[in-house]
Amino acid sequence: MKHSNKLSDQSQEATTNVLVQTKQDHLLPWAADYIRTPKGDLLDFYDHPYLIEIYDDQSKEMIIKKAAQIGISTYAINKSMWFADTHQVSIIYTFPTASDVADFSKARITPVIQASPYLRNRVSGGIELKEIGKSFIYFRGAWSERQAISVDSDFNIHDEIDFSKPDIIDMYRERMSHSKYALFLALSTPSIPEYGIDYLFQRSDKHEWFITCPQCGEKQILKYPDSIRGNTKEARYACIKCSATITDDARRNGKWVLTGDKDWGTRGYHISQLMAPWISATEILRKEERSRIRPTKNLTGVRDFYNFVLGEAYGGENVPLNRDTMLACIQNKYGWEINGRSTAMGVDQGDQLHVVIYQKEKESEKPRLIHAGIYDSFDVLPDLMDKYGVSICLIDALPNKHSARRFTLRYPAKAWLVYYNDNQKEFVNWKKDTEKREYRVIVNKIESFDNMAQKHKDLNVILPHLDSELDQYIRQMTNWAKDKEEDSRGVVKFVYKKLGADHFANASNYAILGVDKLSTGSLAKHQSEALSKESKPITAGILSTKF
Ligand SMILES: [Zn+2]
Repeated sequence: MKHSNKLSDQSQEATTNVLVQTKQDHLLPWAADYIRTPKGDLLDFYDHPYLIEIYDDQSKEMIIKKAAQIGISTYAINKSMWFADTHQVSIIYTFPTASDVADFSKARITPVIQASPYLRNRVSGGIELKEIGKSFIYFRGAWSERQAISVDSDFNIHDEIDFSKPDIIDMYRERMSHSKYALFLALSTPSIPEYGIDYLFQRSDKHEWFITCPQCGEKQILKYPDSIRGNTKEARYACIKCSATITDDARRNGKWVLTGDKDWGTRGYHISQLMAPWISATEILRKEERSRIRPTKNLTGVRDFYNFVLGEAYGGENVPLNRDTMLACIQNKYGWEINGRSTAMGVDQGDQLHVVIYQKEKESEKPRLIHAGIYDSFDVLPDLMDKYGVSICLIDALPNKHSARRFTLRYPAKAWLVYYNDNQKEFVNWKKDTEKREYRVIVNKIESFDNMAQKHKDLNVILPHLDSELDQYIRQMTNWAKDKEEDSRGVVKFVYKKLGADHFANASNYAILGVDKLSTGSLAKHQSEALSKESKPITAGILSTKF
């Protein structure tokens, strides 16, 4: 740990208390004995008093929502090493990407092993696999299925879960189904509300660090801005009740208190930098100011301050479509329709097909939602094309590319395959690939979703009266957010973040692209451009007979 110091009296005591049991059964005494900082010092619990209970925690399911640089990643490494050393097990340890695995291995794991004479003799292996005694730790990226491995696991650790792919995390969970241990530890700086670590924390017993005011005895959680008085020149932590100064010792003598529901069966901890005795109130205010006024690579905006300093999720402007906006688009005189004319259809495919159909309203010219349905088979699509008089249909090219393609081939220039490409400069690109006999639309996902959200905010979309079907539709329409991401060249851009089932949002996005296409009236033009005179009859022949 960075702020090295010897074990304090307090943690010596805590260590002794658990030492009466078998040392091997507990992480805390094991770590105190065998783990050293890169400088060779003992673990510092004096400045990290909040870590003592966490090290000693034996909950099977643990969620840690954390600020940056407060000792939790080191804790996770130590816990994995301890568990591997003292049991005969397999551990899966993930980071968002494969390059994160390599970086973390070099910067964090190797130094821990090197600094410990005990581990140096016990651990072998490379970046992706460490062997400790008879145990294995697999380090993997949690973004691509290709990196996934199919070994059974006794303990899954997911670092930076907010930047990992939820599907992959779920897939790894299945790897523990045969384990008698089945330990789960997820840790991350949060990103947006109700996503990733914040979602998991909300469904835990939510432990918060309570400190006691030295003056009035009020027990409280240190919060920004309520618990800080002063300015960026000089500030102090202050009691929310009596304004007395909260000393660093008072911050050290905090206590973890459950604020959530223990029936979730999951232990949750929230750690902010306000709990870190080595970080002053002045420093916190300066970080906040920097994030707003003079952004750095580590604090590029207010959201980063919330995420990395306070360990809090930050929604702000990043959830473009909310329920209120959707409800405002409802016009009660309208309902669902069983047929239509000159409509635009969007199809999201996955295990099921989610189909959304818009028809332009005569007077207002606004697209009106007339159908939102869920289907099990591609076979229903031609029927829907007929019944609703579909003029243009956009369908997900993936994952069932063959079925989608076979469908679009029946309706050349009417049914288009959609691909998302976020590196594309234009927000939408309509292409007729004569060679592959494919009509495709390449879409910048976040920009097209922005476009769709804006149409709703401007009330340029009409929704039918509220019923359970529309309610389900609205839930899915609001299950996404925008998140800032820095690419390998350091360029910060917004990316799409799924918050839950978002099939109807995708289908609607497609349908609205179709509505736009119909409005610009350029469809006919594209059609004539699409196929050269020579290829036209040949291709048409192939299309109608072979596919
Ligand atoms: Zn007080």
